[in-house]
Amino acid sequence: MKTFNPAKPDGENETLTIALPDSGTPTLGNTYQVPARCGIAVKMTAGQSIKITNPSGHQVCDFWAFYQHDLNEYLSMEHLRTSLGKIIPVPGDAIVSNMRRPLLTFLVDSSPGIHDTLIAACDHQRYQQLGCNDYHDNCTDNLRMALLAIGCQAPAIPSPFNLWMNVPVDASGNTSFEAPLCSAGDYVVFKAEYDVIIVLSACPQDITPVNGANCQPAPVDFMIFIDD
Ligand SMILES: [Zn+2]
Repeated sequence: MKTFNPAKPDGENETLTIALPDSGTPTLGNTYQVPARCGIAVKMTAGQSIKITNPSGHQVCDFWAFYQHDLNEYLSMEHLRTSLGKIIPVPGDAIVSNMRRPLLTFLVDSSPGIHDTLIAACDHQRYQQLGCNDYHDNCTDNLRMALLAIGCQAPAIPSPFNLWMNVPVDASGNTSFEAPLCSAGDYVVFKAEYDVIIVLSACPQDITPVNGANCQPAPVDFMIFIDD
């Protein structure tokens, strides 16, 4: 019987070849781009901040953080919702791990504040269920490949913090997949409270309208800096 290996992608894209140098070490103040449909991993040391920008205004970014010194500790949306008492964090909130430690602090949000903590990352199976016969780029594989590209292995597929993803919950508890509500150039900033590996995936979803009504995935930009 085939056993499940969380680190092994179901297919490939250029995520495997676009890693930052030195195993994901950024040059502070440089703006990097995550190409549409791809993922990138970047190392941050405690005290550094990351600014993630939505150039098109309609792109969702799946966002993960792993504790650099033990990848089995990572941001956990279910633990986060417990600590917050709500489903969407705002600036000032601690973003906690599965060990309930605040790996990050949410510092700034220039967008209307609509993000998602409920929905799993898209994956090979999701696109098969949506009717794709061939391989479709997906955020789960982007996470796996982005980590492989810096010499790491995904220990699991944690639920992502889906930046700008608009999944409203109505009074009856029903959810729907809607277009993002942000504008071109909107950004968020998180500060690392511990040494972390961040993984960003410019979600390749082009079947449901989560990346805008035109279903056209776009790039995401990011920069690591020290706020002083
Ligand atoms: Zn996705």
